[in-house]
Amino acid sequence: MRQKIVAGNWKMNTTIPESIALAKGITEGKTGEGVKVVVAPPFTSLSDVNKIINGTGIELSAQNCSSEISGAYTGEVSCQMIKAVGAGYVIIGHSERRSMYHENDAIINKKVKIALTNGLTPIVCCGEVLSEREANNHFNVVDSQLQNGVFDLSPVDFSKIVIAYEPVWAIGTGVTASPAQAQEMHAFIRSIIEKKYGKQISDNTSILYGGSCKASNAKELFSQNDVDGGLIGGASLVAGEFISITNSF
Ligand code: PEP
Repeated sequence: MRQKIVAGNWKMNTTIPESIALAKGITEGKTGEGVKVVVAPPFTSLSDVNKIINGTGIELSAQNCSSEISGAYTGEVSCQMIKAVGAGYVIIGHSERRSMYHENDAIINKKVKIALTNGLTPIVCCGEVLSEREANNHFNVVDSQLQNGVFDLSPVDFSKIVIAYEPVWAIGTGVTASPAQAQEMHAFIRSIIEKKYGKQISDNTSILYGGSCKASNAKELFSQNDVDGGLIGGASLVAGEFISITNSF
């Protein structure tokens, strides 16, 4: 059985006291049963948030990692550091990193491998921009992102990753993919995983949806056969809203 996951990507929001307050708000609520709940605060808050969630079952994620092991990479944060601060997950290849920081599939591939080497679970993002969907090229785009980003992993390593399908046109826009659009792409992703790694691995891969997912639409999205949860941006910054999303299965 694949794991249901709801992960909150706080992006570049929350100072340390704000992160602590948000984490406390989440731990004080009743998050969904049988759902892995993950929070991804900014790097500066990882340590403090870890102390709040410790022992609650909620897991910690970084939002990014370096593609290098260590050394003269000013401003970068290594997977070893992320692991050492108490995180178990790292978001890799978010569309904001792809578009604003020029991360390509080769960099993402390097990051995924280094994360796995350090015992982190990569949440690997993929998804098309609006023009690619309008040109009916969205399946090719996602296929290519996965082929080049993660499909050279061994079956053992691939089994350790989580995929997040995030149509770029839905991220932070308030426009959500319809449940049918999400299901169609998630089923496609599962089918190409099956082609590459076989049915058992594809059945067990968690594929999250991201893009303006909130309490009011999560239930319908998560009820789709191949949608195993969500990567949540804006709606993860309000504890009650995020808790409600974790209860939407
Ligand atoms: C995201 O950035 O991963 C995301 C899904 O953002 P939002 O929920 O705000 O669209």
